[in-house]
Amino acid sequence: MPRMLAVSDEVRAEIGDDEADRLLAGAHAPETYDCTSCRAPGDSSQEATSTVLFVGDETAVLAFAHARCIPSQVVPVSEAQLRGAVESINQAQGGAPAVGAPGSGGGAGGGVGAAAETAPEAERPAPPAAGQPAVLGITCGLVMCGDTAHAALVVEPTGPVGRPGNTSGEDEFLSLLTDHHFQQVTDVDRAPDSPLPGWSVLMAMGKLHAILQPSATGGSSAWWQAHQPLQVTDAWRQAANAQATVTMYAVPAGTVGRQPREDLLRQALDRAAAKGLLVGAILPLAGT
Ligand SMILES: [Zn+2]
Repeated sequence: MPRMLAVSDEVRAEIGDDEADRLLAGAHAPETYDCTSCRAPGDSSQEATSTVLFVGDETAVLAFAHARCIPSQVVPVSEAQLRGAVESINQAQGGAPAVGAPGSGGGAGGGVGAAAETAPEAERPAPPAAGQPAVLGITCGLVMCGDTAHAALVVEPTGPVGRPGNTSGEDEFLSLLTDHHFQQVTDVDRAPDSPLPGWSVLMAMGKLHAILQPSATGGSSAWWQAHQPLQVTDAWRQAANAQATVTMYAVPAGTVGRQPREDLLRQALDRAAAKGLLVGAILPLAGT
C-alpha cells in the first residue's frame, strides 16, 4: 500500500533514488511506527510521515516521525551511538553479557509499565530461579538534586552479582561499578561529578535502548540493553535532553525494589544512600 511518506532531498541523496522510490511505494517502510520525535504511535498509511535518517560514519538507520512533529531530515550521530542502537535493536532477545557486571544477562525479561501517570517507568524482571544469573532491573524516574530534576536510571540486579570465577555468592555489584569509577553516593541531593568517560545512555526514537560502556577496542559496547526498548515519560525525556545527561544509580539486589511513584523511589534512594548501598555516575545522553 502506498505510504504518506515525505522523503526530503537530503534523505533521498543518502539512500538513493531507488530506495526512496521503494519506500514511497510502501516497501521497507512499516505501516505503524513510534514517532522518533514525540514517540507517540504513527501510521504511515493514515497520516503524513517524515523519514528521518540517522547517519553515522559507516552506518545509517532509517526512522519515522509524524510530519507535524519534524520534517524529513538527515541527523548525523556518532558511529558508536549508531552501532549501539543497531546492536541493541538487533540483539533485543538475550543480549550480550554485561561486561561491567559479569553474570548479568543483558536483556531483562520483565514487563514494562507503570501503575500511575507519574510512576517511574520500569523494566523489572522476575527474580531468577536458583542457580540462574541475576538480571538487571532498570527503573527510570526523575530525581531532584537540589532544585534540579535529573533524569535518573536506577539499576538493581535480581540477585548477587560476583566477579568472574567468584562462586562464593558474595555480592560485588557495587564494587564492580566503583572499579569503573562510579562514585559512592552519600547524599542524593548532590549529583555525582562530571560525566563518566566513554559511558553513555542510548535513547533511540524516544525510548531507552541501552547503557553503553567503553569497549577494549575503543568503541562502546552495551553494558545493559533493553529486552524491549523501555518507554520513558515525557518529563524524563525532556530533563535528559535539557541536561544532555542521565544520572545512573546502582544498588545491590533487594535494596530499592519496584517503587510505584517517584517520591517513593527518591525515599528508597535516600535510604540506600544512608546505608552506603548507593553508587552513581553522570552518563552523557546519546541519541534522542
Ligand atoms: Zn510525533
